[in-house]
Amino acid sequence: MNATAGVLSLTDSQSKVLHEYRQFTATEIAPFANEWDRAGRLPRDIVVAMGRAGYLGALIPVEYGGSALDIIEFGLLNEALGVGCSSVRSVLTVHSMVSYAIARWGKPEERERWLPRMARGECVGAFALSEPGAGSDAARITTSARPDGDGYVLDGTKKWITYGQAADVFLVFARIDERITAFVVPRDSPGLTVVPIADMLGTRASMIAELRFDNCKVPGTALLGRPGFGLVAIAGPALEYGRYSVAWGAVGLLQACLEESLSYARQRHQFGSVIAEHQLIQRLLSDMATTVSAARLLCLQAGRLKETEHPDAVAAIWMAKYFASTGAFRAAADTVQIHGASGCLPTSSAQRMLRDAKVMELIEGSTQIQQIVISERVCATAPDGEGPR
Ligand SMILES: Cc1cc2nc3c(=O)[nH]c(=O)nc-3n(C[C@H](O)[C@H](O)[C@H](O)COP(=O)(O)OP(=O)(O)OC[C@H]3O[C@@H](n4cnc5c(N)ncnc54)[C@H](O)[C@@H]3O)c2cc1C
Repeated sequence: MNATAGVLSLTDSQSKVLHEYRQFTATEIAPFANEWDRAGRLPRDIVVAMGRAGYLGALIPVEYGGSALDIIEFGLLNEALGVGCSSVRSVLTVHSMVSYAIARWGKPEERERWLPRMARGECVGAFALSEPGAGSDAARITTSARPDGDGYVLDGTKKWITYGQAADVFLVFARIDERITAFVVPRDSPGLTVVPIADMLGTRASMIAELRFDNCKVPGTALLGRPGFGLVAIAGPALEYGRYSVAWGAVGLLQACLEESLSYARQRHQFGSVIAEHQLIQRLLSDMATTVSAARLLCLQAGRLKETEHPDAVAAIWMAKYFASTGAFRAAADTVQIHGASGCLPTSSAQRMLRDAKVMELIEGSTQIQQIVISERVCATAPDGEGPR
């Protein structure tokens, strides 16, 4: 069954790129995902390959060497990479958020400085908002930026920064007095120390780090937009792309769970038949197949609405991410169930996918924050019980 058939079908060119993305994943990513997970790191080669393929320029305008994918193509890229490895998809997510923000808000010299190299994968971006004391409540960040000559001095700590261990440039949010402001900070800035965070539960190869800013001096051109633009104008839209990317990545993870489960259930014999013939296993498979189709359609709907800047796009992205991430966690748990003890081996993709799926429920807005935001939206827009369409 083609889950994308009907009103939400793909154009010929979108189907063509999806095929290309899946081929890339099948050869360059999927065979190595478990090894990278165990090593807790990604080789730079995969980043270089993604840059060469144009994937890291997904949200970068063509004039800066980017591939300027349409929003559906960007989603399909995230799904395809998410089938192979959620750590790789995470790097695409944060790099795309940073490149989008620089393209939209960067001063001309900052765009010229970063975007062409980011598009080629010679320079990778990471997104630094969270802090030890500020997670879901991002408005509570305490990292400070004080004017100093023609630039600023940053002090504070950022935590859980995806690809922080290897990224070349960070999009950092800090307060100038009360005004949350965004800065583009090169990795080699004096006063910036990168401290790796190892052995995370999931997306273990995404090379998470803590960033410590101690009297870290950046030039005035590093400021993105204006003082006070950081949270609403810059982090907000960047996180919306991030959420959309994670939603599609969760669809990819769901698809991988379905494929792994089907393959195992068709060859494992117990009680005289393959386990795929036992009805309780069929129930797990049918739930998984239905969830992946529904999640993909929610993502497509969110993409179509975002494409036209429809007012319901924001809520549609929240819903897509909520449904896909919670569905991915259930599907991954069922994938381990179907694999039995074999699914618990360190070499099994099933256990990696279960750990990766839990992370999807935390990043870019946790499950609880999504529940709050979606219900607020439903209550505000549909007093008669209708939700956003
Ligand atoms: C693998 C990984 C990668 C990450 N990458 C990045 C990155 O690249 N850049 C970055 O800036 N951050 C990153 N983060 C941090 C991530 O954004 C935060 O984990 C997330 O915002 C949640 O914050 P927290 O972990 O501090 O949890 P908290 O906000 O402390 O929440 C703890 C629990 O309480 C719940 N909760 C919080 N508020 C409410 C409420 N009002 N009502 C009900 N329940 C609530 C949450 O849902 C959660 O279950 C990453 C995290 C992980 C795990």
